[in-house]
Amino acid sequence: MAKESTVQLPKKESILIANWKMNKTIREALKYVEVLPPLLEGVTMPIWLSVPFTAIHPVRQRLGNPFVIGAQNMNDATSGAFTGEIAAVMIKEAGGDFVLLGHSERRQYFHESDEFINRKVLRALESSLRPVLCIGEGYEDREGDKTQAVLERQLTEGLKGVMPEQILTCLIAYEPIWAIGTGKTATPELVAQTHAMIRQVISSLYGDDTASRMTVLYGGSVSPSTAATLSATEGVDGFLVGTASLDPESFAKIAHLSENAHP
Ligand code: PEP
Repeated sequence: MAKESTVQLPKKESILIANWKMNKTIREALKYVEVLPPLLEGVTMPIWLSVPFTAIHPVRQRLGNPFVIGAQNMNDATSGAFTGEIAAVMIKEAGGDFVLLGHSERRQYFHESDEFINRKVLRALESSLRPVLCIGEGYEDREGDKTQAVLERQLTEGLKGVMPEQILTCLIAYEPIWAIGTGKTATPELVAQTHAMIRQVISSLYGDDTASRMTVLYGGSVSPSTAATLSATEGVDGFLVGTASLDPESFAKIAHLSENAHP
């Protein structure tokens, strides 16, 4: 049975996140962040950049507030013999304030389980990094009517142990796998339906009030041509943008279009 939190909960936030994935050297990243701010004039929505580890510190140094810089992954351990991995505290000290966790590319190519992702969510919270928990169904799940079961599992397992007073520090990014990097955008109807389903699961875990304040982003081939319609879609609080975020001009266009829907 869901328990309503008694703590003062923050208001719902609308946020736009760029996910550069494994793109941009430090030099390229610095060029990007020189071009981006003037293109965003008039945008008040928070802009978060999820950049390669090597770019976190230089980008943070170069970009002032209100930009928020983050990482695309981390390990759940605090330190130790995990060659090639990175700890939350390292991201934090480099200037990162958030981390994407459970991105479908991590689940698919690096076989990350819900349990592992959950440990990372808890570690991120403990380290004052805001987790962006990415969830989404595959094409076969959608076709086989398993979307609800998949999303329910990813949310319930991924958020296990997250306390009511911590939950709104987390963001949810709904990214149907079949729409990521494929140019196939989900229809507004499907997105509205699925975001409502996600909020229902959050409500069953944390109560209605918390569910209504939870930031739920959409991701999956968002571009300047789809951003206006999708951002006006019920339940969409912003986007996680991959491909179209690599070009500052198209990312800024998405920001302006999103801003109009969430003035
Ligand atoms: C992503 O990787 O999070 C993403 C949404 O990518 P794209 O916009 O390219 O589909």
